[in-house]
Amino acid sequence: MTSHRATALLAAAHAAPHVATEAVPASALFGSLSLRPFQIIEALGAKDGAVFQSFVAGKGRLDANLANRVGEIVTAWALKHGATHYAHWFHPLTGLPAEKHDAFLTRTSAAPNTPVEKLSGALLLQSEPDASSFPSGGVRATHTARGYSVWDPSSAIFIRVDAGARTMCIPAVYVSWLGHALDSKAPLLRAMEAVSREVSAYINVVNGNDSCTGIVVSLGLEQEYFLVDKGLAALRPDLLAAGRTLLGCSPARGQQLEDHYFGVIPSRVQAFMADAEQELFRFGVPVKTQHAEVAPAQFETAPIFEEMNVAVDHNVLTMETLRRVADRHGLLCLFHEKPFAGVNGSGKHNNWSLGTADGTNLLEPSSAPHDNVPFLATLAVVLTAMDKHNDIVRAGIASAGNEHRLGANEAPPAILSVYLGSALDHVISGIAAGEVRTVEQIADIHITGNLSAKPDLTDRNRTTPFAFTGNKFEFRAVGASENCGWPMTLLNAAVADAARILRARIEARVEAVVGDRAAAILSVVREVFQETTRVRFEGNNYSDEWRDEAARRGLGNHATTPAALAVLGDHERTAFLTELGVLSSEEIHARHEIHLEKYAKQLQIEAVALAEIVATQIAPAALIQMTRLGAGRACLAQGQGASRIGRDLEKLGIRYEALLNSIDELRAVGDAVGLDPAAVAERLRPAMAAVREEADALEQLVADDLWPLPKYREMLFVGV
Ligand code: ADP
Ligand code: MG
Repeated sequence: MTSHRATALLAAAHAAPHVATEAVPASALFGSLSLRPFQIIEALGAKDGAVFQSFVAGKGRLDANLANRVGEIVTAWALKHGATHYAHWFHPLTGLPAEKHDAFLTRTSAAPNTPVEKLSGALLLQSEPDASSFPSGGVRATHTARGYSVWDPSSAIFIRVDAGARTMCIPAVYVSWLGHALDSKAPLLRAMEAVSREVSAYINVVNGNDSCTGIVVSLGLEQEYFLVDKGLAALRPDLLAAGRTLLGCSPARGQQLEDHYFGVIPSRVQAFMADAEQELFRFGVPVKTQHAEVAPAQFETAPIFEEMNVAVDHNVLTMETLRRVADRHGLLCLFHEKPFAGVNGSGKHNNWSLGTADGTNLLEPSSAPHDNVPFLATLAVVLTAMDKHNDIVRAGIASAGNEHRLGANEAPPAILSVYLGSALDHVISGIAAGEVRTVEQIADIHITGNLSAKPDLTDRNRTTPFAFTGNKFEFRAVGASENCGWPMTLLNAAVADAARILRARIEARVEAVVGDRAAAILSVVREVFQETTRVRFEGNNYSDEWRDEAARRGLGNHATTPAALAVLGDHERTAFLTELGVLSSEEIHARHEIHLEKYAKQLQIEAVALAEIVATQIAPAALIQMTRLGAGRACLAQGQGASRIGRDLEKLGIRYEALLNSIDELRAVGDAVGLDPAAVAERLRPAMAAVREEADALEQLVADDLWPLPKYREMLFVGV
């Protein structure tokens, strides 16, 4: 075995758990390094606290005096916890968080020679990072490159402790000098506002009163990831360049035995999880669940759901923390949607629900959903959104990484349908057919003696991309590496638009059918259930029959990212986003451009990395193998076995030539397609696949000791 691979493998095999935590109750750590809005409100006292509270709720502003008082409270807290620097922490359209660290150190005019630690209210509220090096999709030219990061006070400030340095991070929104959103958060906040406005108006029309004063969108994000020993990963240039393997044979044992899901967590991974969890508790992230996932070396973490913008921030913080803590434990944490061919990829299930300001979940069916008008009316909104804006919601999950996952056989398909579960499907189909069908009470499952289980109303269909699961929808097609701000912006805008449309219909119907208000509302709901049948599917989404059926129903099935993104270029289809105040047409155009460009660049990076690995590592290994075979044949001269070796040598020679030709072709295609997204999808992907096929065939022919790259079996089973 090549000496560096053997060394890394032995180190991984012998890596001991890095025990970094002590047994402390989670509640004792919770929030110790975060400053949550309620703490600032308490510190301000009743009068100013109330002003700040409404500022947090998105109403009113802080005057300069109050802003400075808040700045003092924040600074005092940060200094007490040892922070030396602060940074606005924002989410530019790179998909990764960004921050610029400034010291609290300030020189005052009163004592210019003795600097002090201070953060003014103005600097807390707003900072001015240069926007010229972030993707903007053309909404700002280099000569108007200013950008502003503006504090989002509803998301808690936190102190990151890393390698002894303590930095206070201020969650922020990022806009350009001309007011365009340059991040994923500003549109998300606007989409939340649109949902709150439109859905509460709708619910008030449904209920015939004005008791609903606002809507809270809840989100719980299940995060999947892979862990690979860092020493092994360092020998894989593809993992370093692309976050996924670009070549490698499937191991004899992969996930066939279905023995990894919920399996016992290995000690080294357990130590990492406990360490990461404690960090997250300190940040005030309510992490709840950890488990082994389906693929070997794959795991999942999930928090308790929170309000949507906070949940998204906390997910970004979770990913960042997992990555950093994994590094400390000698592991590489991979969020790519498909790091290894042949085993499951990673998604991020978005558990989503709508509640009124007083805490009522509008997606709670109760035991009599057929009679629960607000629930049925809310369901009608979600079905309308997924039907009318199906392609827009699909565009929100389109990326180079997710392209491997959507439509692959273990993942939700690229067709977005809604699954309600048999009990609810029965009720809704009944309403559509003009019949009253109630939910049958399901008997307990008797096990033995006094042991029994209480079955749930919603059965599970793991093949669906958008499932109703009890009192929420679970959007499963979102990729693991994504910042969910973007898909959630589009889903929520679609829901706000549907509420707006259905409210107008109900209002008109109530006026037309004077007297029986409830009947008028139900008649619209019934029509909606009939009209949206095409987007509901209860069967196996992985089947070919569904693909054909979906095509007959006119549902989009965009396998490539550029095709899925195309709808963003259609002004008519995106007009509702602008009407609702979620994204301006320039901002939509910018996102379309940025996502296309990112896609093309990522694939070009992969192609260059693959060509280099194959030319400089795989081909030379094959050449040495051929010289060995040549030597063996020479030894045997005309003796027994010589002709067999000769045939093997010939086979290898053919593969070797095919490999080199495939690299030439890949490089030529790469040059020809440049950054044209459609051409990249059509031509570069197959050219990469052709190289991989040859390289993987060679992996089976070249002696193991000559193979330069850690193999799948080693990355998936050693050290994790
Ligand atoms: P699984 O789908 O794996 O069975 P759970 O049902 O436990 O997982 O829930 C997954 C996520 O859904 C968690 O983050 C949980 O907090 C969140 N969740 C539960 N109820 C709601 C809700 N009403 N709205 C949004 N998220 C929710
Ligand atoms: Mg789930």
